[in-house]
Amino acid sequence: METKGVIPEFISEVKGFLAEEEGLKLFELAFEACLLGPCLEVGSFCGKSTVYLGIACKIKGKTLFTIDYHRGSEEQQPGQTYFDSDLLDSKTGLIDSFPCFRATIQKAGLEEVVVPMISKSHVAARDWAIPLGLVFIDGGHSYEAVMADYKCWYPHLLPGGFLVFHDIFLDPSKGGQAPYEVYKRVLASGLFEALPMTNTLGVLRRHRPMVVKKQACRRHRPEHISC
Ligand code: MG
Repeated sequence: METKGVIPEFISEVKGFLAEEEGLKLFELAFEACLLGPCLEVGSFCGKSTVYLGIACKIKGKTLFTIDYHRGSEEQQPGQTYFDSDLLDSKTGLIDSFPCFRATIQKAGLEEVVVPMISKSHVAARDWAIPLGLVFIDGGHSYEAVMADYKCWYPHLLPGGFLVFHDIFLDPSKGGQAPYEVYKRVLASGLFEALPMTNTLGVLRRHRPMVVKKQACRRHRPEHISC
């Protein structure tokens, strides 16, 4: 689908760590995934990826659920590499990216599309029962955090749905390896097929179950042939 004019121009000014080509790929994947069901992202920060996913959901009349506890990652805390004083709540002295996220969603006209959950991933997943067409994992980047997000959400992913990881660095000199380690473990499970990557976006598609036609099997078939 032609995306020119569909994604708002202000997206380039939204704080975040998502490249434009990655955002456009998220849009494209969500657009297809909405044929199956709603979409969900883990790790929204200021809403950059949310806009790409959300615009696709809006066009297709589907919901985008987002999860972020909006207190920033370890690297975003005061004194750390990615600290941003704009996101510091002066009353509490804590990082709070939710006002920024909310402003982005409002500016993009997505308030009737996006359902934000200000929560940790495992809390949101505890009683979850909605089948999903796409899950985008971009929350905590430690091996444990990425694996926990995967385990929380993949059971809800519909056959044919997309599981997308951000920050997959094939070259260790380019970035942390934890998301890539999880990606490889997930692929080795045999539950997914790998689709082409876009920059650091690792895209997997959940296999559809094999349809076995029992009537096609002969009743007295040789032992070594199975249906
Ligand atoms: Mg990321």
